[in-house]
Amino acid sequence: MQQTKYIVIAGGVTSSLGKGIVAASLGKLLQARGLKVTVIKLDPYINVDPGTLNPYEHGEVYVTRDGAETDLDLGYYERFLNITTGKDNNATTGKVYQNVILKERRGDYLGKTVQVIPHITDEIKRRIRVFEDKGYDIVLVEIGGTVGDIESLPFIEAVRQMILELGRENVVTVLLTLIPYLHAAGELKTKPTQHSVKFLMQSGVQPDVLVCRTEKPLSDDIKRKIALATNVPLDAVIESIDVNSIYEVPLKLAEQNFDSVVLKRLGLESISRRKPQMDAWKAFLERYNHPQDEVNIALVGKYVELHDAYKSIREALVHGGVANKLKVNILWVNSEKLNTDNIHEKLSAAHGILIAPGFGSRGIEGKILALKYARENKVPLLGICFGMQMAVIEFARNVLGLKKANSTEIDPETPYPVIDLLPEQLEKELMGGTMRLGAFDIDLKPGTLIRKAFGTERISERHRHRYFFNESYGEMFQKAGMKISATDAVSGLTEAIELENHPWFVAVQFHPEYQSTVDYPHPLFKAFVREAYQRKKTKNGSKK
Ligand code: GLN
Repeated sequence: MQQTKYIVIAGGVTSSLGKGIVAASLGKLLQARGLKVTVIKLDPYINVDPGTLNPYEHGEVYVTRDGAETDLDLGYYERFLNITTGKDNNATTGKVYQNVILKERRGDYLGKTVQVIPHITDEIKRRIRVFEDKGYDIVLVEIGGTVGDIESLPFIEAVRQMILELGRENVVTVLLTLIPYLHAAGELKTKPTQHSVKFLMQSGVQPDVLVCRTEKPLSDDIKRKIALATNVPLDAVIESIDVNSIYEVPLKLAEQNFDSVVLKRLGLESISRRKPQMDAWKAFLERYNHPQDEVNIALVGKYVELHDAYKSIREALVHGGVANKLKVNILWVNSEKLNTDNIHEKLSAAHGILIAPGFGSRGIEGKILALKYARENKVPLLGICFGMQMAVIEFARNVLGLKKANSTEIDPETPYPVIDLLPEQLEKELMGGTMRLGAFDIDLKPGTLIRKAFGTERISERHRHRYFFNESYGEMFQKAGMKISATDAVSGLTEAIELENHPWFVAVQFHPEYQSTVDYPHPLFKAFVREAYQRKKTKNGSKK
């Protein structure tokens, strides 16, 4: 088999340049030429995984099928490339050190002094190379952070060693930088990019390709200047200009032959001459850019100030919108600020309401109010994970009259623990750890909205929760009009509920947002957006 080739993507000047999107776009273009691509995201922070990170610090936690809590960039890769990632696709400094220290404690290093070079760098290389001989042509290696940071150094050093060991034609380095525009001077400035390249070169790595983020087009003069100063050939200085949507990025980069430049550096000349098959992508973009109408979805959550905290949900709404030829406007509703006085004002423009996942008690009363509003006003509703749990609590309190009903996560003393932990034995069997993570099979009951949305009996969806619907209340709820519409295929525990006497009120214990991609707009989001639009049409109709 041919040697797996590596494309390393690092960032310079500043963070938040969209490295994940550029890398995923490159992956898409390579895939479109028939190559098999996967990705590794290396994060320089010391947390062992992002599971415990506050979403305000780092955006959402992305959960893979095999139950790893990972960086949100993996979401871009899955959504763009329609691939499944897992535990091996993300590693942090913390995880690298944890492994090395474990080995040291086990005596694996036979009394040697354990050092950053070679032990940490060996572990990094081992992680980068886990996909070798697994049938991949290309592994994209995205290094988080910014070159020049202390934390990034061991990763860059590992890359330097890989270039030495595997040869330049097997490891290509792409540096994403910023060319800032100084309004006062009316000029684009290349100096920060020159400095970033110097940083990288001090570590012994010469970038092969530069991708320059810019708000104004780069003239040939500027490109020549950058090329000369950084030792990068002119054709490998690629402009990445601000665009309206991330879905434009692959095509914009392709216009400048980004992918063929990279392929040539990798010695894959013949593939660089193949025509990429981007028709499906272009069709998606066409629909995205020319929606037939719009629809408003209220997203009710406690992290609404930082939109990255709900990244996958936002993207799944885009996919669901495009599938219905609709533009979805998200109305961000902070659940902590929602109360009986402002609820109408905050939600009356929404044609659909989405209740976000979450942990802890902050903002839950707002979520419950929004659920009551959706139930009573017959607004299409999608509840996700905590959103489903809150829907159960709202129903218990306001329909069943169990006034102090709650989740034991919020109130351990509640007289009506409608959401609760599992009995210890079952918890052990089902979860292993403290959280139920990753994909499990789910059975959908006939004649339900969820079954109709999926059009199939059994699905497999990802999870990230610890609390469950308390089955001892099952009958009571069902009699009063809240149906259990889906159950875990093994344990029979509740996975989804829906309301009778409501056009579309579906709440699920799993996270559909993680599995929505450009090629596979998720069925629940598709159905939800469709129903929200129905609501809009009937509402407009009734006004006439
Ligand atoms: N906090 C809830 C639980 O642990 C829901 C989690 C979530 O929304 N992801 O079960």
